[in-house]
Amino acid sequence: MTTIKLHNTKTRKKEVFAPIDPKNVRMYVCGPTVYDRAHLGNARPVVVFDVLYRLLRHVYGPDHVTYARNFTDVDDKINATALSRKEAGAAGTLEELIQERTDETIRWYLEDMGALGNLEPDFAPRATDYIRQMIDMTQELIDTGHAYEAEGHVLFDVTSYEHYGSLSGRSVNDMIAGARVEVAPYKRNPMDFVLWKPSTDDLPGWDSPWGRGRPGWHIECSAMTKALFGEKFDIHGGGLDLAFPHHENEKAQSCCEAGEDSFANFWMHNEMLQVEGKKMSKSLGNFFTVRDLLDGHDGELGVDGSVIRYVFLSTHYRKPMDWTAKKALDAELKLIAFHNLIGIYADHTKSDSSKVSTEVIDALSNDLNTHAALAHLDALATHTKRVQGGPSALQLAHDLKFLGLSNEHFGNIPKPFAIDKDKLSALERDLLSARKTAMQTKDFSEVDRLKLALIDAGVEVRMSNAGVELIAGPNFDPSKLEALK
Ligand code: AMP
Ligand code: ZN
Repeated sequence: MTTIKLHNTKTRKKEVFAPIDPKNVRMYVCGPTVYDRAHLGNARPVVVFDVLYRLLRHVYGPDHVTYARNFTDVDDKINATALSRKEAGAAGTLEELIQERTDETIRWYLEDMGALGNLEPDFAPRATDYIRQMIDMTQELIDTGHAYEAEGHVLFDVTSYEHYGSLSGRSVNDMIAGARVEVAPYKRNPMDFVLWKPSTDDLPGWDSPWGRGRPGWHIECSAMTKALFGEKFDIHGGGLDLAFPHHENEKAQSCCEAGEDSFANFWMHNEMLQVEGKKMSKSLGNFFTVRDLLDGHDGELGVDGSVIRYVFLSTHYRKPMDWTAKKALDAELKLIAFHNLIGIYADHTKSDSSKVSTEVIDALSNDLNTHAALAHLDALATHTKRVQGGPSALQLAHDLKFLGLSNEHFGNIPKPFAIDKDKLSALERDLLSARKTAMQTKDFSEVDRLKLALIDAGVEVRMSNAGVELIAGPNFDPSKLEALK
């Protein structure tokens, strides 16, 4: 069986991944708070853990891997958006407007992430469906001396957990010294965090032993993983910004309830995404949602989802990643060229992700080296061009499919060529012979005529000593080639 190595935040080392139960590999990734469209940065963990999910399914079998990613649907920001809709005159109670907002945001999220080639997780639990479990866990933490009630709140006592800070590599004393947050008077220790808090009558709330209220954010994931996976599971993922405090707090809650050996074996974190070298921010004008990018925004044309995915995969997940317009353009040209090759020399409809190359699996098994996996696609493409076909063209299609980079739209571009391979070869031959003649006569007008007509039809013309290569580009118009005779 393939050996998978993954970097574990808990040990700060790359380790061999050995599942607790190879027949039931379990992975949990913290999902979005559903109050608005996902921004481009939010898509990074989704793509990273989708690649890991695909790898695990390949190695352990699709029926032996369970992937859960939650939706945080109770939060101040959700309440605020619903409230502003109500104030703007929207019909319905605040509760209904909250439900409407979370429902539509979840729908958008799944659409947008689907457009980036991500598979849907096996479980996508909503936090509000697990309130009972959160209350039970909170009660248990109080009973075992890890949490206390104060002024309608329940707080986790960080001094009750000797390993607090170990995941993110901080000591409680340093954290207290560096804390800039305003400390609520009811906290025993500034780092104590909320498990339960009171809710006002007009906002969502649930009855609890501590009065009507709602859960804190961290307890959500502890309660949901326990309900779905039990006390122990294999991989817990999310963006690096979640390592502290969110994951540190999740771990504290769960380990205090079930023992230090419980909860996630592997912790994985993706680095952050920037745009054109800067942190994405509305004030810098470089903030956009995934949908903005897909549909086009501020006068820019839309970008295909597979192009976004390719750009993401070109940077290792533990490195900061820079989104640039140039990278998107390069990725688009590359994907078009790949799909053209498949269109010409193979058949897109025969692509099968289970036939992925060993090279791609080996690259991903080395802590998700997606860059090396993409390099293998280049090697397949180069080989296909050199031998004018061969099995590498279909292999390219299998690998693109496995990586979630197949694109029906791009796949369609070269169809006329694919159907009429003779036409393509004939044009290449015409151009070659025109060039040969021109070398002797020194009259290049026929070469120029053919070249210009091809370029006008959206075909990239590559001429070298080795020969002539024609590649249909994004604006390819086969009807313009009809006139070329
Ligand atoms: P949030 O809804 O803010 O909790 O974020 C959802 C997910 O997106 C989390 O896993 C975050 O770590 C991740 N995330 C947010 N911003 C970025 C970013 N700029 N780059 C990469 N991941 C991010
Ligand atoms: Zn979480």
